[in-house]
Amino acid sequence: MELVVATRNLGKLKEIRRLLDESGVRVLSIDDFPGLPEVEEDGETFAENARKKAETIARLTGRLTLADDSGLEIETLGGAPGVRSARFAGEGAGDAQNNRKLLEQLDGLPAERRRGAFVCVMALCDAQGECRFFEGRIEGEILEAPAGEGGFGYDPLFFLPRLGRTMAQLPLEQKNQISHRGQALRKVVEALRSTP
Ligand code: IMP
Repeated sequence: MELVVATRNLGKLKEIRRLLDESGVRVLSIDDFPGLPEVEEDGETFAENARKKAETIARLTGRLTLADDSGLEIETLGGAPGVRSARFAGEGAGDAQNNRKLLEQLDGLPAERRRGAFVCVMALCDAQGECRFFEGRIEGEILEAPAGEGGFGYDPLFFLPRLGRTMAQLPLEQKNQISHRGQALRKVVEALRSTP
């Protein structure tokens, strides 16, 4: 089984590749198909963005394609940064700037008002544009300062009370076992297994 993974985010690609490799799925990246366009993520929901990416790349490559859209939702901020997680501090902002902005917005708030969740929606689309969707979600709390070197994005600020660590303090295997992306991806693997 072969699958194109439509992401240019190397952190995500690494996580997705690890899980799919274990399941015997051969992962092709969009870099294996030179000249593919950038797909703009201008949807209002994770599902819209995931579908747009997967469907576009599936039609252009003629292959089954998986795309995810994910982000951090903070209750106190009305669900922000949400679909704008990657560009929370502005177009082209990096992880450090996004994390700083999040800390500023939550400044002075107690732990119970710093709750949030990482959410991931994956779209699996075939070359005809038929898509199926898979979701994962994990709850946590935003620390007042980053801790840990692993992962990417908001991981150093995302504290898991049950484990007493941030997402960035977990080895990749452990992150994959519990993360929003890992949960969604396991559902994808199940669906691929039961597809004739
Ligand atoms: P996307 O590429 O539009 O899905 O943007 C996802 C953004 O959400 C990333 O750039 C991160 O800022 C954030 N994000 C999504 N998943 C994770 C994760 O597993 N850890 C940390 N940040 C994440």
